[in-house]
Amino acid sequence: MTTSPDPDPNAVAPAVANLETIVSLSKRRGFIFPSSEIYGGINAVWDYGPLGVELKNNTKRAWWRAMVQDRDDIVGLDAGILMHPQVWVTSGHVGSFSDPLVECATCHRRYRLDELPGAEDLSQTDLRDETVTQRLGLVCPNDGGPLSPPRRFNLMFTSHMGPVEDDGNIVYFRPETAQGSYVNFKNVQQSSRKKIPFGIAQIGKSFRNEISPGNFVFRMREFEQMEMQYFVRPEEGAAAAFEQWLPKRRAWYEAYGVTPSRLRFREHAKDELAHYAKKAIDVEYRFPFGWKELEGIHNRGDFDLGNHAKASGENLEYFDQATGEHFIPWIVETAAGADRAAFTFLIDAYREEEVRGETRVVLGLHPDLAPYKVAVLPLLKKRPEIVELCHRLLGDLKRDLMAVYDDTAAIGKLYRRQDEIGTPWCVTVDVDSLDDGAVTVRDRDTMTQERVPLEGVKRLLLDRMAAVRP
Ligand code: ATP
Repeated sequence: MTTSPDPDPNAVAPAVANLETIVSLSKRRGFIFPSSEIYGGINAVWDYGPLGVELKNNTKRAWWRAMVQDRDDIVGLDAGILMHPQVWVTSGHVGSFSDPLVECATCHRRYRLDELPGAEDLSQTDLRDETVTQRLGLVCPNDGGPLSPPRRFNLMFTSHMGPVEDDGNIVYFRPETAQGSYVNFKNVQQSSRKKIPFGIAQIGKSFRNEISPGNFVFRMREFEQMEMQYFVRPEEGAAAAFEQWLPKRRAWYEAYGVTPSRLRFREHAKDELAHYAKKAIDVEYRFPFGWKELEGIHNRGDFDLGNHAKASGENLEYFDQATGEHFIPWIVETAAGADRAAFTFLIDAYREEEVRGETRVVLGLHPDLAPYKVAVLPLLKKRPEIVELCHRLLGDLKRDLMAVYDDTAAIGKLYRRQDEIGTPWCVTVDVDSLDDGAVTVRDRDTMTQERVPLEGVKRLLLDRMAAVRP
């Protein structure tokens, strides 16, 4: 498996030309807000509003379904964010989880070197070279001032455990969930009696003191990861698992609606590989700000269990009953971000259409991802019998689906509002409903309407959702 050919990186257009379109929709409709906004915000932290929390939860559920529920060989775990500090020494994070930082001598702004214009494609050797800023004539994008030589900046947030603050009780906010799976390898394997190959999946918060966060929720300092560690036989076992996971992970994004041409693989160059990796390929998405990583698939060799075994003194070998061998399993990891995935679904679902001379904004979200599955709308809110029927239907739907009621505008406007937040179906109750016990079900994508008996509405929607579920 190699990187997909992409002669012209701009040949594929992003789903939305301007990121601002998504940022303002998110704020206006309640997907994502700046954190602590009334105090002026805090850089690189975002809060999920009423619709955003649904989209992100649905994203996590979709991942869990594919990675745990649908599999016999993967189990879940929810490890603590705080871990024994030695974990991060052994993992290599204390020593080398860092980015190259440069500082402007005049305005003192700090930048991640490889994100400066003209430095995006520098090799790892260049990124560590003290003379690189001078040699390439790189200057501060803010005021043109001279930039310092790069120095390594560790991305881990630290704190102190207990009431005394000294070096003896330092704790790290985890920068990845993976280590929780490694240190629990024995616990999980023995308690679930899994045989290799098997995996441990985890979803949870991670923290990185990113030097240059940005592009909305793409790079944050507090974010959520969805990571799966697959424990396999050494060498060939890992190579084979790696090739199997690549297409599976790309297919997951496509199954939930991401346009295939906006996805590609990119293999890490030898000198770009992280300290633990033998091979790494990213699934990238064509964001409005370029091709960027969505998820990394890594062959980590025996780096993790081997080092944890040495440092802890625990025997982390696996005994293969079939062959009688003892060995340290190798690990193939699929490391995705919940925020990045939800963000991608949001961007790729966005479309503007001309309908009868007006622009209709639609989020064509997969029904499993849509915050609300159905909206119940009265045609005439002044008729109490209609409103009462709406609430009866809503109560019934809510037992099984996220459903919402809205009567604060005329029906055309109500439909547009639901289109804009991705609600796949609207159910309208009208005067005839009172006589014939039927309602109108309107489809977001085709805008077609059909008359359905009240008691059949929920079944119809549940069947439609089941039919499109990957
Ligand atoms: P980058 O090169 O973008 O800094 P990375 O290669 O360090 O990312 P990994 O350590 O492989 O990223 O993390 C796995 C996944 O976690 C990423 O693919 C991404 O989806 C998510 N992720 C990592 N850092 C962030 C962040 N700062 N904000 C949001 N999501 C993140």
